[in-house]
Amino acid sequence: MTTMNCMEVLANMSCYIDGDGSAELRKALGEHVTHCRRCRVLFDTTGQVLKIVTAAEPFEVPLAVSARLYNRLEKILSEA
Ligand SMILES: [Zn+2]
Repeated sequence: MTTMNCMEVLANMSCYIDGDGSAELRKALGEHVTHCRRCRVLFDTTGQVLKIVTAAEPFEVPLAVSARLYNRLEKILSEA
């Protein structure tokens, strides 16, 4: 089982959001946010945490939302 760090989570998040993430990737992201409070807050803030944890199906996020989310994540991580 690969353990992601926060930067890897961030790096893979756009793929996940775009629906390109494999089931394994989504699982790894879900596992990370389970143990990482900071990332959990990020995902929770965006309302995606349940979808990640349940690891159901890819879902669509409008591009504008995706870009805004990504900017927010970068900002939060840079401040951490
Ligand atoms: Zn994290």
